[in-house]
Amino acid sequence: MGPWPLSNVESEVRRWLLGRLNSVEPEERTGMVHRLMNFESGQPRGARLADGRLWSESELDRLALSASKLSAGEPLQHVLGQAWFDGMALRVTPDVLIPRPETEELVVWMAEKLASISERVPRALDWCTGSGCIALSLKKRVPRAKVDAWDVSEPALEVARANAVDQDLQVATGAHDLLDASRPSAPFHLVVSNPPYIPAAERADMHARVVDHEPGLALFVPDEDPLLFYRALERWCDEGGLADQGWLGMECHHAHAGDVAALLVETGRWKHVEILKDLQGRQRHVVARLEVPSFHGRPPQD
Ligand code: GLN
Repeated sequence: MGPWPLSNVESEVRRWLLGRLNSVEPEERTGMVHRLMNFESGQPRGARLADGRLWSESELDRLALSASKLSAGEPLQHVLGQAWFDGMALRVTPDVLIPRPETEELVVWMAEKLASISERVPRALDWCTGSGCIALSLKKRVPRAKVDAWDVSEPALEVARANAVDQDLQVATGAHDLLDASRPSAPFHLVVSNPPYIPAAERADMHARVVDHEPGLALFVPDEDPLLFYRALERWCDEGGLADQGWLGMECHHAHAGDVAALLVETGRWKHVEILKDLQGRQRHVVARLEVPSFHGRPPQD
């Protein structure tokens, strides 16, 4: 696996590892080295420097192996087997989307709504849960809630269940297809979803690190129907999936958030329809509250 660093002190190992990543995009290299070294040592850099830490041969072996995987185009989270989401180190495999920071922003917003629901045990659902990141974060932030995590992919649900065990959080997984009319209903008090939303044509412009390693099932929608999953979510909520006054929060493609919001507004059954921007200032999430029309006046007498 050589060549090896000239010595096993921090600065030399760092220089050596950077050199082994020379086929990785330059803007990614330093961050990768930083995270690989922290992961392998189990210490932040400051602590290693303060300790005058020397790197062992087996650690150098593992760093070299990780560097070759990264150079071959694997995402860092697959190399480490984990991704950070809302303070949790979650397992990730090629069967699930790697949790993204923008999804964290939506969960923080939705967890506040969940916490404000007056039911003793509010019920929340993460539709298209993947790694379980949204469901687990909701449960962590609002422990009194009962949280379900549904996905069409059984291998993804296995990852979500393993994450729930690791995090010692209870979420109920279910293998259901949002696009199948026989999917179960509930109703829930709050529904969050990060469904597939990237039109297939955009695949060509995306990084190989994403398209070659993350599940197409979780990423792409047909070019002719980019709102496929949002229509399904709206209909499912409206047909009894979401309770009256319940909250819906959906992550969207930045170019389609306006269309998703319009889709809700047009039904006349949603209020407080709002588009939230991500940290990069792009329209990223649509949140809304369901208002089931009530029967006004006296009930019919017979
Ligand atoms: N935000 C993800 C990406 O840009 C896509 C997530 C999704 O399709 N739900 O790769």
